[in-house]
Amino acid sequence: MSVSTVAAAPSVCAPLPVLGRDVTVPLVTGGEVTYAALDYAASAPALQRVWDDVAAYAPYYGSVHRGAGYLSQLSTDLFENARRTVAEFLDCRDGDQVVFTRSTTDSLNLLAAALPAGCQVFVFETEHHAALLPWRDARVTYLDAPRSPRQAVETLERALADRAAHGPALVCVTGASNVTGELWPVRELAAAAHAHGARIVLDAAQLAPHHPVSVKDLDVDWVAFSGHKLYAPFGSGVLAGRADWLREAEPYLAGGGASRKVTRCTDGGVDVEWHDSAARHEAGSPNVIGAYALASACKALTETGFDTLVAREQYLVAKVREGLADVPQVRFLSLFGDDAPRVGVLSFVVEGWNSSHFAAALSAEYGIGVRDGLFCAHPLVRTLLGSDPQTQGECGAPEAAPGEKSLNAIRVSFGAGT
Ligand code: PLP
Repeated sequence: MSVSTVAAAPSVCAPLPVLGRDVTVPLVTGGEVTYAALDYAASAPALQRVWDDVAAYAPYYGSVHRGAGYLSQLSTDLFENARRTVAEFLDCRDGDQVVFTRSTTDSLNLLAAALPAGCQVFVFETEHHAALLPWRDARVTYLDAPRSPRQAVETLERALADRAAHGPALVCVTGASNVTGELWPVRELAAAAHAHGARIVLDAAQLAPHHPVSVKDLDVDWVAFSGHKLYAPFGSGVLAGRADWLREAEPYLAGGGASRKVTRCTDGGVDVEWHDSAARHEAGSPNVIGAYALASACKALTETGFDTLVAREQYLVAKVREGLADVPQVRFLSLFGDDAPRVGVLSFVVEGWNSSHFAAALSAEYGIGVRDGLFCAHPLVRTLLGSDPQTQGECGAPEAAPGEKSLNAIRVSFGAGT
């Protein structure tokens, strides 16, 4: 197996400093090499700047919202400022709430728990499991994989027009696929949702690290994303958007911080008044460092400018394509066509190769870290591979026999530090 070397691009910016750039790893062939992290879509390393901010704050860490002491007040300020920074980063509307969560998965589960009674949910089968699965208690319509952005909008419009009742409805859609990197027509999908009286939540886990996300401009009702994909791997995520459904819902977690007043009542039980603010869904001591780190990453990306980051990623995507163009066995995976606009994420199979072995060899022989499997988007990857939905795939499961279709794919993904 030979891998083309990616030459430095004279016309695009240098990578941003991130942790782990100088990590060396042993090779099975002997010696060691500087690790090449090409799995940013799974988790991105911390920006050096985020790490520096966290290190500078760590000695002052204190419990938020409850303490009269200086460190507690300082931490409360930083936590609430982080909320404002995220609201600015997402260009939220006045009155929108920013709830700190653990991750995108957590954010979408929170929203699923806050759906009004009788809410219908519409979701493409192509979504990451975090967006596909949380709606188990609702009436869910799974939409077939579209083969163009236009078809995505038409499919959604048809499904919404067909819905019998006109009660509350929610569309959940990704901004950029974690499998193909392709950009989805979010603004058009939002317009279609609203035209039919539905709301829309954007899964921006893969979009936010690569593109500006404006709640106002895209006209989405909520946005969910994760800190660890946005160069802040400190266990934080965000659900931001309209306050009404969140305010009317039972708290996601019950406990201190979410409750304004708790009293014993005459029947022997307790009465609880819950907060109406984001705190309603943030019971317990929050992850202050995670929120602070996430806000630091938002500032760093805004200051660097997405144009600069996108230019570099597109250069790297083009380089990978160019480097693999001479290998006839390589087939890139895409829904909307190879030339569709995408973020710095590419998946492919090498016909005749077991994808998991291929990925393991890249690591063991070249020190290149990629991902193999079905990328927590099983229906999508099986559609793209043309494999039987009943067949296995994913890590540890049996792969295709030689000459058969691969059951897994290989993914390379880039970010600000590559
Ligand atoms: N949505 C997309 C598109 C993703 O790529 C991922 C993670 O890979 C998620 C949601 C879930 O993110 P997390 O694991 O941080 O909850």
